[in-house]
Amino acid sequence: MIFKSKLPNHFDLPRRIARLGELSYNLWWVWNPLAQRLFNRVDNNLWERVNHNPILFLRQIERPIWNAAAQDANYLELYDHVFADFDAYLNRKDTWYATQYPKNPQTIAYFSMEFGLHETLPIYSGGLGVLSGDHLKESSDLGLPFVGVGLLYAEGYFSQRISEDGWQDAINNPLNFDALPLALVRNDDGTPLTFTVDFPEGAVTAQIWEVRVGRTPLYLLDTNLDINPPMVRQLTTRLYWSDINLRVMQEILLGIGGVRALRALGYTPAVWHMNEGHAAFLTLERARELVQAGKTFQEAIDETRVSNVFTTHTPVPAGNDEFPLWLVDKYLSTLWPELGLTRDQFVELARHQQSWGETFSMPVLALKFSEGRNAVSELHGVVSREMWQHLWPGRSVDEVPITYVTNGVHTSTWMARRIRALYEKYFGADWLDSLDDYEMWEKMEIIPANELWAVRNHLKRKLTLYMQERARKRWIQGGVHPVQVLASGVMLDPYVLTIGFARRFATYKRASLMMSDFDRLLEIINQPNRPVQFLFAGKAHPADEPGKMLIQEVYRKVKKAENGGRIVFLEDYDMNVARYMVQGVDIWMNTPRRPNEASGTSGMKAAINGALNFSVLDGWWREAFNGDNGWAIGPDADLGEAVQDQADADSLYETLENDIIPLYYSERDAQGVPVKWVERMKESMRTITPQFGTRRMVKEYTERLYLPAMPKKK
Ligand SMILES: *Cc1c(COP(=O)(O)O)cnc(C)c1O
Repeated sequence: MIFKSKLPNHFDLPRRIARLGELSYNLWWVWNPLAQRLFNRVDNNLWERVNHNPILFLRQIERPIWNAAAQDANYLELYDHVFADFDAYLNRKDTWYATQYPKNPQTIAYFSMEFGLHETLPIYSGGLGVLSGDHLKESSDLGLPFVGVGLLYAEGYFSQRISEDGWQDAINNPLNFDALPLALVRNDDGTPLTFTVDFPEGAVTAQIWEVRVGRTPLYLLDTNLDINPPMVRQLTTRLYWSDINLRVMQEILLGIGGVRALRALGYTPAVWHMNEGHAAFLTLERARELVQAGKTFQEAIDETRVSNVFTTHTPVPAGNDEFPLWLVDKYLSTLWPELGLTRDQFVELARHQQSWGETFSMPVLALKFSEGRNAVSELHGVVSREMWQHLWPGRSVDEVPITYVTNGVHTSTWMARRIRALYEKYFGADWLDSLDDYEMWEKMEIIPANELWAVRNHLKRKLTLYMQERARKRWIQGGVHPVQVLASGVMLDPYVLTIGFARRFATYKRASLMMSDFDRLLEIINQPNRPVQFLFAGKAHPADEPGKMLIQEVYRKVKKAENGGRIVFLEDYDMNVARYMVQGVDIWMNTPRRPNEASGTSGMKAAINGALNFSVLDGWWREAFNGDNGWAIGPDADLGEAVQDQADADSLYETLENDIIPLYYSERDAQGVPVKWVERMKESMRTITPQFGTRRMVKEYTERLYLPAMPKKK
C-alpha cells in the first residue's frame, strides 16, 4: 500500500456504491471527467453549490436519493466503468517509469510551500502552487515513486472581494478539514503520528495529513495543535506571512520538519527536490543527520549534495527569499553546533552580499548544496546564470551550472471535456497515452473546422453564463453597488471576440499596459460590427500595496460607462475561475516586463483549449511562438523599462487593430466559421499541446535531474 493513512468513513451510502467515499478522498477524480459525472449526474445544482467538493456532496445528498442511484442501471454502469478505470490506474504495472527504469523504485521527495490541486483545497497562491500540483498529478500518471511535502494552512489562501472603489479585501475563513480530502496519519494505536522541530521557545510538535493524488501521496505538515504556543500554531494558519519571524519559522518547518516527517513516515528518499528556495533548509537537515552519525560537516554536505535538486522560479532579485542575519541568530543558533559549525561558518553557507547589507539567502543555500539546478524556461536559464554567476567565481556566465526545464501544464486537469472528446473521436480512445508524441498531433488537420469552432463557441458561452451567474449571486448576497454587478460581466456577449488576462497582480506583469492609451482602447472595443471584450482576474498578495493599487487602477477603468460593460473584472481568481477562463476565451494575453516572467503557465492552459496566445516574448511563449500559432507583443529583445513599455503598448494596439480583430471577424465561410482563425487555432493546439504539458516536463525532470541524482548501483 502506497498510502500511510486510513480514510475516515463518515458516509451513509448503500453498499453497492459505497466506494464513492474512497473516490472522494482521491483527487484522481479531478482530472477524470467520467468520475466527476458520478457526482454531478446525481444533482448538478448541489455539485455547483458545494464548489465541486465530493465529500460535502456525498454527505448532503439524502439517503433515498442514493438508494435510487444504487438501483439505476445506467448509474451503476457508469459506476462500474469508473471504478474499473480507477483500479486499473492505481494498480497499473506498465507505467512509463516502471517500463523505462524497471530496477529503480527509489523515492523522489518533492518539497513546495504551496500545492494547487483543486479549488476546494486552497493551499496555493498562484503559478508556483499550480505547477507543484500539476507535477504531482503527472508523477502519478507516469508512475514515478514520488511523494510531495508541504504545509496545511488552516485558513488556506484568502478569498478576494473588490470594494466599489476597487480596493482588494482579503477574506480569511477557517477551512473545515473534515470536509476536505485530508486523512490524518496515525500510529498503530490510533494516536496521530507526530515529529518535532526546535525553535528558540523549545521543541514544537507537528502532525501530518495525507492527500491522495492518484497514486502519489502528498504530506501536509500541521503545527496548529493545542500543545503548541500561539505563535507556533500560526505557522500553519496562512500561506506566506509577511512577518519575517513567521516566514523563517515556516521555512524551518517545511525544510527541516519536512525531512523529519518523511523519516517518521518511514521514507528514505533517493532524490530531494526543492521547488523554489522556501524548502532549502532541508539541505542542512540532511547534513545534520550524517553529522549526528559521526561525519564531518564537509563529508556530510558533499555526500548529500548529489541527491538534492533545486528549481528556481524567480528572475527578480527582490523576489528571492532571504533573511537578515539577526533573524538567523534568533532562529538557527541551535542548529550550527549540531552541524559542527561556528556561527560565522554557518552564515557563510548562504551569505549574500546586497547593497544594503548581508543576508542569509535561501536560493544561495539551495544552489550551493544541490547538484541538480534548473530554471523554468530557456530565457529564465540565461537570466539565472547571470544572476548567480557570483557563486561560481572564475566561470563564465555560460558555464554556470544552472540548466532549464520549461514548465508545463497537466493536460487532463486543464483541457475541457469537449476538446478531449474531439481528440477521442479523431485520434483514438487512448490519445492521452501519446500526448507528447508529435507525430500524433499531425492528425490535427483531420478535425473538421466547424466541429472545432462549435466546441469553442460552446466553451465561450459557458464562460459568459458562468460570469453572469456569479454576478447574480453576488447581487443577491447584497453589499454590492450596481456598477460592481456590471463590472463583473453581466453584459458580456458570447459572440464577441474575447480576450483574457488573469494572474497574480504583481507590477512586473503590467496588467494596465493595454489601458495605457485608454481612448484608443475604447475605439477598439466599441466598433459596432467587430467589438472586443476584455476579462481581467487576479489577486495581489495582501501585503503587496503596489499590486493592490494596480488592481484598483484596472478596476476604475472597468467601471467606466464608456467601455459599455466590455471590460470586466472577475473577483476571486482561483483554479475554478481559471478553468472557465482558459477554456472560454479566444485570446490569452500576457504582458510581463521582459525578462521577469520566469515561465508563465496560464497561456499553455488556454492554448490546449484552442485559445490563441498574444504575449510578450518572455518565459515559455518565447519558446513556443513560431509566427503562425499566435501573436507576439513587442520584439524579442530587452530595451530597458521606459522604451519597452512604449514599444510593447504600440505593438499591442497595432496587432489588435491590424491582425487579430480582422482575422477573427472576416473570412467566414458559409457556416460562419472564421476559417483562417481556426487554422491558427489548430497550429497552436498542434504545436503547444505536446510540448508544454507536464508529460514532457516530468519526463525531462526524471531523465535530466532525478536519475543523475540517484545513487549509482554497485
Ligand atoms: C495557472 C494559474 C496561475 C499561474 O499563472 P501564470 O500564467 O503562471 O501567471 C495562477 N493562478 C491560478 C489560479 C492558475 O490556475
